[in-house]
Amino acid sequence: MTKEEQYLHYTELILKWSKTMDLTAITDPEDIREKHFEDSKAPVSFLAGARTLVDIGTGAGFPGIPIKIECPNIHVMLLDSTRKKINFCRQVIFELGLKGIEAIQGRAEDPEIFRTHGPFDVVISRATWPLELFLELAEPYYNDGGCAIAMKGARWQEELKKAEDVIKKYGLKLKESHPYTIGGGDKRCLLMFEKQRAF
Ligand code: SAH
Repeated sequence: MTKEEQYLHYTELILKWSKTMDLTAITDPEDIREKHFEDSKAPVSFLAGARTLVDIGTGAGFPGIPIKIECPNIHVMLLDSTRKKINFCRQVIFELGLKGIEAIQGRAEDPEIFRTHGPFDVVISRATWPLELFLELAEPYYNDGGCAIAMKGARWQEELKKAEDVIKKYGLKLKESHPYTIGGGDKRCLLMFEKQRAF
């Protein structure tokens, strides 16, 4: 399958599964492309050199599945606490023929999960927790030299301010803050944090 065919089939699966379950609020094919696929690709240019990535609270596979389609060499783990969403992700992985990607059901704060599967080069999440909570949850998933990427909406500056304490607590460094606009004019921002090496 070409990438274009993979995205088309992914869209078909979203539409099909949305009839029987609450998968995503967006069910118009053009909106899926603009608001989910294009947005999920935003981190790609910041992932050079990454070998492993975990997407916590992936839902219907965002941003983890589009990242896998764009960067086939990165090993991706999708994590979500909802069994049905993980079943959906597994079906997408199977039908798109994606390799080096797994979907795991579990809670991000469960030590079993990060002890068994971690650490990762990159921990990422979109449309999930407030920034300070995400940085707390992400902490055990990556080591020095790794990074945590939060994909945020228009109020990212406010969130960044609220997260000051946790940023200090873990010695994190804001490596990139990349504001961008997706189709339809929605404002987004990607925030990338690195753990500072002690020496
Ligand atoms: N990242 C997706 C989904 C966001 S909705 C997107 O951008 O569209 C938030 C998702 O987080 C839901 O699918 C929910 O099941 C999952 N979730 C909530 N609490 C969680 C937890 N503690 N651990 C893992 N996943 C969780």
